[in-house]
Amino acid sequence: MSDIKLAPPPPGVTGSGFFATTLDKAVGLARANSLWPLPFATSCCGIEFMATMGATYDLARFGAERPSFSPRQSDMLLVMGTIAKKMGPVLKQVYIQMAEPRWVIAVGACASSGGIFDTYSVLQGIDEVIPVDVYVPGCPPRPEAILDGVMRLQDIVRNESVRRRETEEYKALLESYGIHKND
Ligand code: SF4
Repeated sequence: MSDIKLAPPPPGVTGSGFFATTLDKAVGLARANSLWPLPFATSCCGIEFMATMGATYDLARFGAERPSFSPRQSDMLLVMGTIAKKMGPVLKQVYIQMAEPRWVIAVGACASSGGIFDTYSVLQGIDEVIPVDVYVPGCPPRPEAILDGVMRLQDIVRNESVRRRETEEYKALLESYGIHKND
């Protein structure tokens, strides 16, 4: 007997011999359960992510066990650690190099707000340079909190319209960060 649990199907209309749903829901289901993380770890919060990837917490359960250090082959940027202002342009470059659709989680107090480092050299939150979808509180957040952040992101991904990336609002969001759609 297998312990493997399948993701529940998207809401739809069933009948004998057929199942109908919308493209948005089917694509959302597939995307949410196959997020490929890019760990951008600069300090202590990165260690918590390593634990999250390990056997006890097992991020693989969410279809996200394939860390990528190539921005082109990842769609979930996890920023973990203190980001110095000098590092800001590097982080932005990595974000720009990721293929659409892409999502961002700020893991921990430093990535979310600069944390305890309220100083001239530290970025006071990565949302000063790139848009963020989910913030995970804590210094450091426990692996459970990181998993919760990934699950909140899955909720966003599951419910995102396949057309969102083509909208004027999304274009305006990127442009507010000085990022152009075809960069
Ligand atoms: S939030 Fe705390 S644990 Fe995480 S990188 Fe900053 S100082 Fe380290």
